Amino acid sequence: MARLPPPKFDTSFRAEVGQSVPLAPGLARITAPNASPYTFTGTNTFLLGTERLALIDPGPEDESHLAAIDRALMGRKLEAILLTHTHRDHSASAARLARHYGVPLWFGGQHRLSRPLRRFEFNPIKRSCDWDLLPDRTLTDGETVEAGDITVTVHTTPGHCANHLAFGLGGTGILLSGDHVMGWNSTLVSVPDGSMADYFASLDKVMALPYRHYHPAHGGPIEDGPAHAAALKTHRQMRNEQLIGAVRNGAKTIGAVVKAIYPTQPAKIRLAARMTMMAHVEYLEERGELRVARGLFGTRLALS
Ligand SMILES: [Zn+2]
Repeated sequence: MARLPPPKFDTSFRAEVGQSVPLAPGLARITAPNASPYTFTGTNTFLLGTERLALIDPGPEDESHLAAIDRALMGRKLEAILLTHTHRDHSASAARLARHYGVPLWFGGQHRLSRPLRRFEFNPIKRSCDWDLLPDRTLTDGETVEAGDITVTVHTTPGHCANHLAFGLGGTGILLSGDHVMGWNSTLVSVPDGSMADYFASLDKVMALPYRHYHPAHGGPIEDGPAHAAALKTHRQMRNEQLIGAVRNGAKTIGAVVKAIYPTQPAKIRLAARMTMMAHVEYLEERGELRVARGLFGTRLALS
């Protein structure tokens, strides 16, 4: 099968932080002031509904952001808070807002790893996860829920993390794609919080769903979501091939592979690259394409 071209990452989005930006009937976006190399222009909080409302990803505990959310409600009735996943840039304010507005919290279950920790292994993004947050209702794949006066279809999309959900808005062709599919960059997949195999499967999954316009949790909308998801898949397949190539050329450690593939990246991005590369290593190991020897002092790579 012919390969699609790699994705075009669009970093031209300019967030109107603190403003409620209408995107479609019954859908508005409020971007939080937590821009960073990992969150791009900040976390997008979405407001669903016209008279009765639901909030998706209330974001960080930032007073100005919570005030912006309250302004955007304009006194209308909030009925539920939904989360795409339980990384703290999406969920940190969720419990407090649920209490404040007296509404339930709905998401894909308590934060969990994609696989158990190995001996001596630690989760590099442990502190970014909301381990103690519990849903009032656990959302499951394929179910439809009334979120305010909008009908939302729940789609489990693990990969970025195990409890990640995307939300389809009934009859609009719009998917709130969370951190799974974003326009500005490919998502971080850090093992064992996330899983590259799950991520590939979840890309295939959204491509087959009947949504064309994606609104991600960071950055601007994606005009043709399924085409972008397909391009992201190509991008990850290219990374798999680069990894195999680097090992063939003599790289024996993750660090050597990262240096070969991302020679000019700044340190902060290189850390993310290293985490994603670990996820690729595991993916190729599971498929029998790489041999991985894990020791106390590091990981040694070889071709199978
Ligand atoms: Zn995020």
